[in-house]
Amino acid sequence: MNDCIFCKIAAGDIPATALYDDGEVLAFSDINPEAPIHLLIIPRKHIPTLNDLTEVDAALIGRMHLAAKQLAAELGVADSGYRTVINCNHNAGQLVFHIHMHLLAGRELGWPPG
Ligand code: AMP
Ligand code: ZN
Repeated sequence: MNDCIFCKIAAGDIPATALYDDGEVLAFSDINPEAPIHLLIIPRKHIPTLNDLTEVDAALIGRMHLAAKQLAAELGVADSGYRTVINCNHNAGQLVFHIHMHLLAGRELGWPPG
């Protein structure tokens, strides 16, 4: 956990431009954007993958979605559209094992994803 890059961002030890922070959930720009808008929404709590969610995290995962909704509105993409994605483990391409929701917008997003 001490080596977790997103815990370090949440603690302010690694710089990131926070676009949202309610104390439990924060959002910042992805360092390698795949769309004109590409944010990451994370809980401060270290949860490695979706598989590790428990009942006590129900409100937290809900709060992450509410953050996505608010950010999409603030960034002007609520009506044009956006996508939220949580990758879980190898086949989904998860690289950082601290749960995070991608918020992608600003262009038409292909479906199905690769
Ligand atoms: P995933 O493949 O779902 O685990 O996504 C991890 C994401 O974290 C990738 O889109 C990376 O570009 C992004 N990322 C990794 N390190 C940083 C960082 N220091 N600041 C912002 N985004 C990062
Ligand atoms: Zn972490």
